[in-house]
Amino acid sequence: MKGNEPGNVEATAISLKDEDVPMPRQEPHERVKNFSEVALGYTEEMALKEAARCLRCKNPQCRKGCPVDVPIPEFIECILQGEYAEGIALVKSKNALPAICGRVCPQEQQCQMKCVKGKKGDPVNIGRLERFLADWERDNEGYWPEAPAPTGKRVAVIGAGPAGLTAAADLVRSGHSVTLFEALHVGGGVLSYGIPEFRLPKEIVQREIDYVRRLGVEIKLGYLIGRIKTIPELLGQGYDAIFIGSGAGLPQWTGCPGENLGGIYSANEFLIRVNLMKAYAFPEQDTPIRVGKHLVVIGGGNVAIDCARISMRLGATVCLNYRRSRNELPARREEIENAEEEGLACKFLSAPVEFYGDEKGWVKSMRCTCMELTEPDEKGRQGVQPIPCSDFEIPVDTVIIAIGQTPNPIIQRTTEGLMTNPRNGTIVVDAEGRTNLEGVYAGGDIATGAATVISAMGAGKRAARSIHRYLMETPRGERTSTGN
Ligand SMILES: Cc1cc2nc3c(=O)[nH]c(=O)nc-3n(C[C@H](O)[C@H](O)[C@H](O)COP(=O)(O)OP(=O)(O)OC[C@H]3O[C@@H](n4cnc5c(N)ncnc54)[C@H](O)[C@@H]3O)c2cc1C
Ligand code: SF4
Repeated sequence: MKGNEPGNVEATAISLKDEDVPMPRQEPHERVKNFSEVALGYTEEMALKEAARCLRCKNPQCRKGCPVDVPIPEFIECILQGEYAEGIALVKSKNALPAICGRVCPQEQQCQMKCVKGKKGDPVNIGRLERFLADWERDNEGYWPEAPAPTGKRVAVIGAGPAGLTAAADLVRSGHSVTLFEALHVGGGVLSYGIPEFRLPKEIVQREIDYVRRLGVEIKLGYLIGRIKTIPELLGQGYDAIFIGSGAGLPQWTGCPGENLGGIYSANEFLIRVNLMKAYAFPEQDTPIRVGKHLVVIGGGNVAIDCARISMRLGATVCLNYRRSRNELPARREEIENAEEEGLACKFLSAPVEFYGDEKGWVKSMRCTCMELTEPDEKGRQGVQPIPCSDFEIPVDTVIIAIGQTPNPIIQRTTEGLMTNPRNGTIVVDAEGRTNLEGVYAGGDIATGAATVISAMGAGKRAARSIHRYLMETPRGERTSTGN
């Protein structure tokens, strides 16, 4: 199907510029007052102009940087030809969640980092083009793959985050019967309860979950594995294989005295209240959230930046307190810039020491210490240490702790013999996502610790491939499992 007149294609295809086409965004002074999406997406004209920058390399490096192996030059060529339906079909042949990836994947560290155009100027903006196709599909004829022949095998997938959704979509497309068990009342994992509306609208997440459901995956919500059913029980019930994609949803704390005072949230608690319980729309919605005037976020990753940007939208003056320097900030560069444009202040090389409360038990101030980077070790990694006698105190109404997450241990505790890493509770897997238990696979944050959407999707994909091989090559009688 053509989405564009050939004449337009001709005109744009010859404009080879080295600068990329900027993404239109809401103005900072406007967007800091609302929760609507900040990045507005390319128009057709912009997408054609950006697509024309691609050299359609014979040996495309960009594709090597994509953890789910999207045929990048081919889908860009489809955009140039105005063949948008074919373009989204190519993307979806590898990636069931393109509207999500086009918005939140760190392309600058993956496909775009490898793009040859980046050697002399801006790389091709692959993520924005992927988003363009996914958004085009929303308003036009959708892509629908052919139904596979059923294999008669049953697979249980645990967790409806990007790892579980990807594994489920790939397994059902291979002909297996797939049931996805999700503990929460909505699917999406961090995409729904963590990443805020202004970066990833929930309607977009729901649409992509609906696509996975319509492929044939049965999704059971409000179903906590480890409580309602255990993994050995699922295997005993006739599931031929299991994929665990239960993520890393348990907060880490600083351990500083006073951390249990009122007004100190873990990032998870804060994000769930705001995103899932819609506290940002209080009083139209039932759940309130108190941010006060002076709010400090401790941490420097995507989670910390999201908490800071939400808090600014709720009316607080926000300071990010990060123990290393700006250069080491792990959050996406684009999101740091967005946050600073919106008014975020940053205090680098600073770490909390103690929190102080008022007579009612609410936090009123915190003591911090200044930090310095140490000499690099033999691996080139710099440590960080406190500078003696450098403490200072600042008034605060609210503190959000965003220094990392670890896996919830319920599945590990209820699955006898499942090998975990004693240091951080992650499930031990090999390169194909196999655990030490036959027929049981895992991937995403539960295996790596907190990482990225696309790495979780890549893990779901690899495990689905491996499960498919296992189910098709191992006769049922020769399989052993913890359920037998
Ligand atoms: C605020 C925030 C912002 C982020 N921003 C970005 C970003 O911009 N770009 C990026 O690439 N990454 C980002 N990340 C990281 C990314 O979202 C995660 O790495 C990714 O979601 C991990 O996917 P997953 O499927 O492994 O786990 P999750 O997304 O955590 O999903 C796991 C799912 O399993 C369910 N579950 C857990 N235990 C059970 C159980 N026992 N039974 C049934 N279900 C269970 C959970 O409820 C959840 O729905 C961000 C993370 C956060 C928290
Ligand atoms: S490396 Fe860059 S220029 Fe080459 S095909 Fe990929 S996106 Fe196009």
